Amino acid sequence: MSKGLYYKTKEEIELIRESSLLVAKSLAEVAKIIKPGITTLALDKVAYEFIKDNNAVPAFLNYSGFPNSLCISVNSQVVHGIPSKYELLDGDICSVDCGVVKNGFFGDSAYTFPIGEVNSEVLNLLKITKESLYKGIEKAVEGFRLGDISEAIQSHAEKNGYSVVRELVGHGIGRDLHESPEVPNYGKKGSGLKLQEGLVIAIEPMINLGKKGIKQDNDGWTIRTVDNKQSAHFEHTIAVGKDKADILSSFDYIEQALINR
Ligand code: MG
Ligand code: MG
Repeated sequence: MSKGLYYKTKEEIELIRESSLLVAKSLAEVAKIIKPGITTLALDKVAYEFIKDNNAVPAFLNYSGFPNSLCISVNSQVVHGIPSKYELLDGDICSVDCGVVKNGFFGDSAYTFPIGEVNSEVLNLLKITKESLYKGIEKAVEGFRLGDISEAIQSHAEKNGYSVVRELVGHGIGRDLHESPEVPNYGKKGSGLKLQEGLVIAIEPMINLGKKGIKQDNDGWTIRTVDNKQSAHFEHTIAVGKDKADILSSFDYIEQALINR
């Protein structure tokens, strides 16, 4: 399924940025309305309309038969949850993953929202998962290797007592949603592909409160933790840079929308 590795031109990176910022703004539309009592299908509808209104195509809709525009994964669901009539409850956490394609280029980003009052133990899981994403991004610079990104994510999650999902990984992105290389959230410093300017990847730690194991539901999509404890997921699309990574997606729109509610 994964397509080949290639380095993007500056022009291509700008197109991926445009798609990634549309993803960011779509997630901000979700942020405006996500709260206890809303169905995950209602969130999906808002994102679908917003993406269409912006002359783009939801990347997940019909991807290998996926039925919706967003992957929405609640509590012990890790990723690939299907939007449904489930009404979010006070105390839930809800990962919303969005992808779009516009002008032939993909963007991909995910954010885990606390719903109402979430207990401090679970809020800390969200905080550390987001931090581990940025620890990985700090290593997405020429001179480092892929394993440096992976190790930075893993060590931050594990030193805080959490576990890293192994079976699902980040990925190259550009003309396809999933390109080479795979970007694991665990690994060894100094190992793997040498990073070069122009490599565009989606980094997406999936971090579990309890054990690292996962299982798949009978719907053929939803991934959840084996121990039914919570899992968090944050994702950015980024371009490897000479001195620092260029984050092409953004959480700013989401976090501003959460503040303004
Ligand atoms: Mg994603
Ligand atoms: Mg992704």
